[in-house]
Amino acid sequence: MRKINEIFYSLQGEGFFTGTPSVFVRFSGCNLKCSFCDTQHEEGKMMSDKEIIDAIRQYPSRQVILTGGEPALWIDQAFIDRLTDEGYFLCIETNGTRPLPQSDNLWITCSPKEGAAVILKKADEVKVVYTGQDVETYFRNIEAEHYFLQPCSCQNTEEVIRYILEHPHWRLSLQTHKLIGIQ
Ligand code: SF4
Repeated sequence: MRKINEIFYSLQGEGFFTGTPSVFVRFSGCNLKCSFCDTQHEEGKMMSDKEIIDAIRQYPSRQVILTGGEPALWIDQAFIDRLTDEGYFLCIETNGTRPLPQSDNLWITCSPKEGAAVILKKADEVKVVYTGQDVETYFRNIEAEHYFLQPCSCQNTEEVIRYILEHPHWRLSLQTHKLIGIQ
């Protein structure tokens, strides 16, 4: 059984897959307590893997985003293998502080948080909410194809743009779901 906050269907709003229709599986709870956390993830109900897959199957997309909270608290190799065997492409949004299962059909988005030690050495994308902190440590220490900086709740976009223009190995990620008013 795994504790699920919600399962819903929408467009990925952020990062590399922005605009892609995806089934979101939001796990409950997180091992960090970021002041800017904008998700209500604490509530949840225990669901079996069959119940989770049945809920995912209601939607037409084959892309599933495992998010939270921190999904690494609830997922394991058996869960990842079962979903990939069903033909789903999985994306995990993690803060990078916990080990993850492995799969070729797994896209890892690491969103490190200030003050929390990241153990992930490799990801597909690194996406950092920029609040003026030293983000170059993430660029140096996490090997990835894509590096995104994101304004904090759409509040400091100009500051982020200025930083990216001076450090062009980063790209801008916006919370487009908030800009267009979808979940
Ligand atoms: S790591 Fe993410 S989910 Fe956890 S408290 Fe921070 S912003 Fe919220």
